[in-house]
Formats: sequence, structure tokens, C-alpha cells
Amino acid sequence: MKFQTKAVHMGQKPDKQTGAVVPPIYQTSTYGQEAPGEHHGFEYTRAGNPNFQNLEAAIAALEGGKYAVVFSSGMGAAMGLLMQLSSGDHVIATEDAYGGMYRALTRLSVQFGLRVSYISGDDADELQQAITPQTKYLWLESPTNPLLNVIDIRTLANVARQKGVAVIVDNTFATPALQSPLELGADVVLHSTTKYIGGHSDVIGGAIVTDDDRLAAGADFSRKAYGFNPSPFDVWLTHRGIKTLGLRMAQHCRGGAALAAFLSEHALVSDVFYPGLSSHRGHDIAALQMKGFGGMVSARFNVPVKRLKQHLARFRFFRLAESLGGVESLICHPATMTHASVPAELREQRGIRENLVRFSVGIEDSDDLIADVKEVLDSLR
Ligand SMILES: *Cc1c(COP(=O)(O)O)cnc(C)c1O
Repeated sequence: MKFQTKAVHMGQKPDKQTGAVVPPIYQTSTYGQEAPGEHHGFEYTRAGNPNFQNLEAAIAALEGGKYAVVFSSGMGAAMGLLMQLSSGDHVIATEDAYGGMYRALTRLSVQFGLRVSYISGDDADELQQAITPQTKYLWLESPTNPLLNVIDIRTLANVARQKGVAVIVDNTFATPALQSPLELGADVVLHSTTKYIGGHSDVIGGAIVTDDDRLAAGADFSRKAYGFNPSPFDVWLTHRGIKTLGLRMAQHCRGGAALAAFLSEHALVSDVFYPGLSSHRGHDIAALQMKGFGGMVSARFNVPVKRLKQHLARFRFFRLAESLGGVESLICHPATMTHASVPAELREQRGIRENLVRFSVGIEDSDDLIADVKEVLDSLR
């Protein structure tokens, strides 16, 4: 079965009782039992729900994995993995990890003695040296947020796995439509389904996918034991979104490429970050490990920061908001928004400067989007 067929059909068996083509929302906290302990496989929705299972079947199929576990959010999914560690365990992450991830790892290290270190992600030797006997996870993201750095997943996964370190890849930006981390050697794929998978900016959710029995059971335990479960309705909405993932990503890729090309030519733009540009640092690796370059584009502007920030709410179609991956275009100022929890000097060091703007290109017609960007840039001259 090909990608788009799986997206439509996996986990979407018609309801047996009524024939309803779309499985209903099992909006229930609990399930009646025939006798104590005798039930239909569901006891309490924190532990399990038919809607969870349906979405898990779809996401697992799209990522090509054996198990999926859905969570309340992308961070909930991350916690589903992190709560499997003990104090003294070591996690290696890439320097430009998602800002919320950085915040969580920092706090977990202070409060619970998790050891955390960061690598640039473009050097296998650097990773080799960072691994200690306590290292449990290598936490990768590619392309990264907001600079769209591309990490050679296969090369780094090889190094980590030889030392028994589980490789986790946050595939939120690429989605399974464009990148399959399990095929590249990852042990776990993580998603903020809030973004492209849900795709409509109306629900928060997360998921992990893995072939590893132990990591899957641990994630399932974390969800149940610590309460990182989503709601049945949210999961149902996410499942509605996933059916068009392939179509949406194709359009996001077209729009992303068009915007990146437009910005590259503009006099007020000093740098454009888009994996599809041949000038992008990770372009060659992206071309090998991705089927398309996605809809996220970042750029630095040669404009006084105050003026730039004043204009960010003036777009017609690009709404100034956190988050990404929805059908509608969004724009974001990483230094004050998504990456505000990263200390200023660290941000500077990692290239997340005050003149950096991130675009999440939606599925609108790219002519309209480019006209919108052109108009605001013209007014900035
Ligand atoms: C948004 C995001 C997360 C966190 O997901 P939430 O659903 O907001 O908790 C993690 N990783 C990446 C790359 C993200 O963009």
C-alpha cells in the first residue's frame, strides 16, 4: 500500500454496528465491564481508547514502524521517552533542538539529575566523543527549527547504535511524507502532531513510533502512569487531518520553494534558510534523505530590528503566531517567540539573531503568498 492510501485507510475501518464510514469519537472516560476484569480491551481512557488505537495504526503505517503511541502534545510524547530514564542517565541532543525541548532538558537536569550535552550535529567524531557509558538517547531533529539545519541521520544513527544508544528523531518538520527516520536507522520517531500531521492548527497532540518493544511499552506506561494522554476528540481531529497529509505536504513544498526563491532575490534579505536551495549548507544531505524540502523557510533581513518587528503583524496571509504546519501561513520571530526560553547569548551563538524571521508556508496559492510578502517588504524599504 502506498503512502496516500495508508493515510486514508489505516485505522479507519467502518463502524461494525452502524456502518458509519468514519469511526465515531469514543468520548468516554471509562468502559463497562461484564464481570470484574472482563472487558473489551479498554478500561479507562488514560490507559487506552479506540480513537487512540486508530490514529496509532495510521501514524505507525506512515512511518513504517511496528508501534505508535499517541500523547497529549509533542512535549508529552518527549516526556513519554524521557520518563523512561533515571537520574545520572545521559542524553545527547543537537544544539538547535526545539526550544521547548531545551527548556525541559535543562529543568530535568537541575531537578532530577539527568545529564544533558549538546553537539552541533554535523560531525560524527564529535558525537563519538560525547557518548559515555551513561548515554541512553541521541535526540536529533532534521531539518531543525528555525535554521533548517539538516542532519545526516544515517551517519549519526550508525555511530550511536554501535554504542547501544537509542536514536530518537523528531520528524515534526519533515513528516513521514518527506522523510522516514526508521529507514535511516533511528529507533524512535517523534512528532508534534500539532503541526503538519494534524495540519489545521486546531489541536495539540504528539506521537512516537518505534519497532522497539521496550521503548514502546515504556512510552505506553508513561502515558498511563503520568497522564500524558490526549483526548479522544483531539485524536479524532488529528486523524481527520492525517488523511490529506501527502497532498498538503506537496503543496507546502511548492509554496516553500517559491518563497525561498523569491526571498533569495530580494535586496532586503541577507540570508535564506531552506533545504531546497542548492546554496543551503545541508542541501546535499537533504536531497538524499528527504523526498521533498518542506514548507518551512527562514530568512535574515537587512532591516533595523525594531522596524522589522513592527512589520511582522502586517501581512495579509502570514499570521504572526507561534506554531507551524497548518493549512494557513504563519510567520514568527524566533528570538522573542519560539526560542525565547533559550538564553540570549546561546541564541546568538546558534545564529537565532534578532533579524531572523521564520515562515510556515501554508497551502494557499503561492502567487498570493508571494504578493503578500512583496508588499510588506516594499513598505520596509
Ligand atoms: C512544536 C514542536 C514540538 C513540541 O510539540 P507540542 O505539540 O507543541 O508540545 C517538538 N518538536 C518540534 C520540532 C516542534 O515544532
